[in-house]
Amino acid sequence: MTSKRIPLVAGNWKMNFDHLEATYFIQQFAWKLRAIHFDHKRCEIALMPSFTSLRSVQVAIESDNLKIRYGAQAVSVTSQGAFTGDVSADMIAHLGCSYVIVGHSERRKYHPEDDANIVDQVRAVLAAGMQPILCVGESYEERRKGIELDFAVGQVRDVTCDLSDEEAAKLIVAYEPVWAIGTGMVATPQSAQDAAKAIRNDLSATFGTEVGETVRILYGGSVSSKNAVELIREPDVDGFLIGGAALKVDELTRICKLT
Ligand code: PGA
Repeated sequence: MTSKRIPLVAGNWKMNFDHLEATYFIQQFAWKLRAIHFDHKRCEIALMPSFTSLRSVQVAIESDNLKIRYGAQAVSVTSQGAFTGDVSADMIAHLGCSYVIVGHSERRKYHPEDDANIVDQVRAVLAAGMQPILCVGESYEERRKGIELDFAVGQVRDVTCDLSDEEAAKLIVAYEPVWAIGTGMVATPQSAQDAAKAIRNDLSATFGTEVGETVRILYGGSVSSKNAVELIREPDVDGFLIGGAALKVDELTRICKLT
């Protein structure tokens, strides 16, 4: 992490916590953060609940004036109309969301989210005034072949190639090797740094150094309080996208403190 960018710790709750559990978590989490005098100017925190919990999360955060941000885990590419089950970017933005996760490997796997759909999600999120957290990362197979850097860089390039410099600057990238997600196998700090650096260099080459140096690049995949310190020491790792560890108040508080 370099001092130019404010680190971001984003908790991806996936399909966990109903709205009551989400509210309870936030109350406990806020209490823990206060107890350690957490400085929100030093490190940003965001929580990404299910759609059904977004309104409760908004109320819990706003009613207590908390400095925690929040967002959604995916978005529809269309703005309104006959799309049963979809949720538009404007609906999400109107709930006070700052971020939307786009292209998570679980969405790429279980839903028909290809590059074209992910590009449209990124555009929809930006048009609604929020920031996309674009997830990329190689599978075990690509890593075995030694093509993980090209793969991750290629995924970012495929999605960003038509963005303006201004749009690209609003992007957040999460490098999440698929083999590390939910497995307990974490990338080494060096390999997280290599991937983040390769992605940043490519963004700089396409959009200019200012954009490349602005975009925050998170690491995701089995992050815990045991590995966060080493990972955040790397100059191009600007924070974390956290799954399992973001479901435990004490563990998430520890990671925020260490970041
Ligand atoms: P994990 O999930 O921290 O449980 O590995 C990360 C993610 O899927 O974003």
